[in-house]
Amino acid sequence: MKVCPEGHAFEERLVSSCPFCHPDIPLVPNRPPRPWVSFLLSLIIFGGGQFYNGRKARGILTFLGLSAGTFSIWYGIVEFAGNKESGTGLILAGLVLLVPVWLFSLADAYEDAVEIGTGAAAVTERNPRVAALLNLLPRTWGFGYIYAGEVRTGVLLFAAGFVLTIWATRSGLGVLASLLTLVQLATSAHAYVITRRAQTLAAAKHGARLRKIPSGGPWVFRIAAGLIVFFELALAALQVFPVLFSAP
Ligand SMILES: [Zn+2]
Repeated sequence: MKVCPEGHAFEERLVSSCPFCHPDIPLVPNRPPRPWVSFLLSLIIFGGGQFYNGRKARGILTFLGLSAGTFSIWYGIVEFAGNKESGTGLILAGLVLLVPVWLFSLADAYEDAVEIGTGAAAVTERNPRVAALLNLLPRTWGFGYIYAGEVRTGVLLFAAGFVLTIWATRSGLGVLASLLTLVQLATSAHAYVITRRAQTLAAAKHGARLRKIPSGGPWVFRIAAGLIVFFELALAALQVFPVLFSAP
């Protein structure tokens, strides 16, 4: 993301110069990524679709996050035979990371390719899926707001999350952990809505230059988001029984 001297934000990997100041430059690359190819690549290898879309940093972070989650689950399964409690803790910690990141990465691979293809990605300042994911993960709670530009709210939430998580773990307050998960889910949806609105507004300024792709809306995202909501609600229900989450 680059900002021109006039203060317009644009994606320098997709357009050579500011599309707001230069209304003649095309917003869509010559060979935009194909959404289903991107989706399938992310299905085959962690972050594969992100790499294919040209988002190297996001691809690397996705790969590392998902590898860490997988390792935690695998190690938890190994540990389970000797120490049931610590094994369960590791498996759950792995799932809490793996499930949302994996579903978001699949949705992002597809939707980002669509947005590059329509030209919306070139004028998108903040990716709504990144904002939602950052606010959903317990360790990065609040970063979604910081990313979205709401720095003060983000820092406050991050600090509060840090304290509340320790408190909930130490005192075995499963209800608190469960509520925290629900609040994280709500702030994740909120971060998505504000960044998505900004994206739609920026794209609307370039209405005539955007390429139309016949589509019934972001269905891949909706399905992934539905599964994530289901997972987080199940997690919140499970956390009411703190014995499952006691620290190893
Ligand atoms: Zn400009």
